[in-house]
Amino acid sequence: MIFHKMRVSELYKVFVITGILLVIIINLVTIIGIRHNLNKVNVELIGDTNLLANINEEYKDPGINVNRHGRTVKYDVHESNNIDITKFGNYIYEYDIVVDGKTYKLTRNVEVVDKSMPIINVEEKELIRDYCSKAISKEPTYKATDNYDGDITDKVTKKDNGSTYLLSVVDSHGNKNEVSIPIKDQEEPKNKIVLNGYKTQTIYIGNEYKDQGAKVYTGCGIELPDESVTVEGNVDTNTLGTYELTYKNDKYNISAKRTIYVTKKTEPVVNEETDKPGNGKVVYLTFDDGPGGYTMQFLDILDKYNAKATFFVTNQFTSYQWVLGEEARRGHTVAVHSLTHNWNIYNSVEAYKNDFNAMNDIIEQQTGKRSNIFRFPGGSSNTVSRGHSRGIMTTLSQVMQSEGYQYFDWNVDSNDAAGANSTQVYNNVIRGIKNTSKPVILMHDIKKSTLNALDDMLRYMTNNGYKFGTLDINGPIVHHGINN
Ligand SMILES: [Zn+2]
Repeated sequence: MIFHKMRVSELYKVFVITGILLVIIINLVTIIGIRHNLNKVNVELIGDTNLLANINEEYKDPGINVNRHGRTVKYDVHESNNIDITKFGNYIYEYDIVVDGKTYKLTRNVEVVDKSMPIINVEEKELIRDYCSKAISKEPTYKATDNYDGDITDKVTKKDNGSTYLLSVVDSHGNKNEVSIPIKDQEEPKNKIVLNGYKTQTIYIGNEYKDQGAKVYTGCGIELPDESVTVEGNVDTNTLGTYELTYKNDKYNISAKRTIYVTKKTEPVVNEETDKPGNGKVVYLTFDDGPGGYTMQFLDILDKYNAKATFFVTNQFTSYQWVLGEEARRGHTVAVHSLTHNWNIYNSVEAYKNDFNAMNDIIEQQTGKRSNIFRFPGGSSNTVSRGHSRGIMTTLSQVMQSEGYQYFDWNVDSNDAAGANSTQVYNNVIRGIKNTSKPVILMHDIKKSTLNALDDMLRYMTNNGYKFGTLDINGPIVHHGINN
């Protein structure tokens, strides 16, 4: 019984001691663990382990986080990377971090890709829809550029969506951008009176004037055959002067005007001399930059000598457009110079052609015929164009000739554009025609000095047996050397 009791009490002691030891060991482990945990440093990348960088754009790594249980720790860091931002590919961005003598390494994968969408710049805030054609009155002017592809304007696609006009472009890596421009509907254009025949007419005194009348058209150009037009005003063909006729339609309260000049006929000067220095030699008078305020006077003096000339024309003085018709009716050649005579036409082939074609449209409206000959502003040898587009003159001369046009420079310069006075203009021209076999003479019908020299010049030419020729596609072809 006692033995039994003792056995029990000994066992009890063993249990108690073991228990105490276990408690001590557990506590020690816990304390060491907590202490270890308290010392633990947390080192991590800010952001994803895999990041994208944009080609040709500075890459800035988001950095790292170093702390001990949220508290800042002192550390040393060394950053390094092998990124070439100009080349697509996979790169490494590394951090070597030293905290309390212990080194940590963090690595991020950076892939250089093209993630920027191209930019479309459009000049127009709004487009207009033409009432009659239902088409856009003027296509938008735009430019598309991409950080990687550069100028991708030619990749832009256009779509007319009715109330908006959509321009979209995709770069070579599939990044897309779109610009939507609102379209405003043009109001219905008013009806109008359209003259039959020319808006301005010149008739010689004593000749009969026959009015060709006028018709009423809708704003979209459809004739309204039942509408009557009354004419007010008269033309006295026996009295020199300027006459104005007014055409009216009362129903629509619209009108139009025609101007008729009754002028004196200048008798051609007959050349009776046959054995003179220039006998039979043909001179080619050319006049650039008009028509302008003096051109009608040029035409009258030319008529006096029955001299025909070639006019390289512009639209710089829009109120004289009608003179183009007058030039053609009097037997002169009307050829293209430039709509605007602005050097910007040399920015591109497209810019040049737009200007060229717009001028030829006006020539066709006024004379009934397009021209296939032209003179480059500044001549084909000009160097001004270099500042606008390298090699443009080389390209243009080839493109235009391949499309059936011929350009003309000159081999006699009156120097009127450079400010020569009328005596100098006369001397430059006369000296020039004596020394040149097929003289193509550069003059400007917007220069008063040339106007003042013209009568004397033509009298000299006539009296010395020169003939007057006009230029056509066959020549005589005078080309300067191209310098751009
Ligand atoms: Zn010019």
